[in-house]
Amino acid sequence: MTDQLRKKFENIELNAGKGKISAFLSVSLGLLAIFSALCFLFPSLLTTPELRPFYSKYYDIFYYALLIGIFISACFGAYSAILKQNKYGFYGLCFSIIAVVLGCGLIKTPTLPTLPFYAGFDYFVITLIILALVFIPLEGFFAKNNEQKLLRTGWVTDMKYFMFSHIGIQLFSFLTVMPIQYWITHIPNNPVVPYIQMQPIWLQFIELLVVVDFTTYWIHRALHEINFLWRFHAIHHSTEQMDWLASSRLHIVEVLITRLIATLPIFLLGFHTSAVFAYLIFISFHAIFIHSNVRFRFPYLRWIIATPEFHHWHHSSEKPAIDKNYAAFIPLYDVIFKTLYMPNHLASIYGTVGYKIPNSFIKQFTWPFKKYINKLKNKLKRNT
Ligand SMILES: [Zn+2]
Repeated sequence: MTDQLRKKFENIELNAGKGKISAFLSVSLGLLAIFSALCFLFPSLLTTPELRPFYSKYYDIFYYALLIGIFISACFGAYSAILKQNKYGFYGLCFSIIAVVLGCGLIKTPTLPTLPFYAGFDYFVITLIILALVFIPLEGFFAKNNEQKLLRTGWVTDMKYFMFSHIGIQLFSFLTVMPIQYWITHIPNNPVVPYIQMQPIWLQFIELLVVVDFTTYWIHRALHEINFLWRFHAIHHSTEQMDWLASSRLHIVEVLITRLIATLPIFLLGFHTSAVFAYLIFISFHAIFIHSNVRFRFPYLRWIIATPEFHHWHHSSEKPAIDKNYAAFIPLYDVIFKTLYMPNHLASIYGTVGYKIPNSFIKQFTWPFKKYINKLKNKLKRNT
């Protein structure tokens, strides 16, 4: 373990010797094991239909992975609770026991019919494990801000956003895709579609980047420059410490607006499904990367594609950086529309200026509406 990584773990107040690291691992693994065990119990309700054939094929591997996860959670929990007298270790131990009860195969649940709705518990667990395995070491070894704690202020709120957006994947897709599909069926065929579909997938992938980025540049700019929309986007900017998890902090209204408008050119131009899937996976991973707490600067690439340096300036609360760097992937749009800001040093202070945005997930949900609710209340008061 490098000094940086050790310092990071020490900084998160999980100081070695107090059983806090083991308690953290036990609680995290224990909770993930409970979610996974529930997926085994209610597959038709809690797993994404597209992934179910994959789970059936590799059932044993997934099941043993669950048992190993429970075992590790229990060991860390027992160590932390019994030897270090840490109450969180006790919680972790309890979670692993609940996961054992749920996942041991003794509980028999009735076979549910294939339901029209589902929750993406599996999507949440798998994505979280993959992203944590990639980004925690990456931020540990190449941290931009070494002083930042792993479990920094607001991480619980951001984890709730992450959980909500992943478990509610069907709801989000439904609310985004359905209106577009309805609209598309009511307009005449686009003559461009056959020309796009005859192109190779890699070319469609590049076209998607160029076209969707142009759209998202203007949505993003509108989210900043139109006061009503800014109140929703301000939630995303309220984080004062950047890391991979901070990318999840997005108000549901912003998610729906952005996805609805950004998805429109994808449907209108009729890109091939493979190109769309490749694009979505790539751009989702890239969006997380540019928020991460890493110090890579990419000397030449930073003028061609959006890097963490570029996007951290977008989140900066320094005056010259406000309302700059809107592009999600291609900074050229910021050059063309004169919103680029890339000084020689890295950004260091983040957050919104002039707004006090609450920290809790629920309060952040209602915050954008508050101004209008208060106005309505005052109006009613005056009228009575
Ligand atoms: Zn923004």
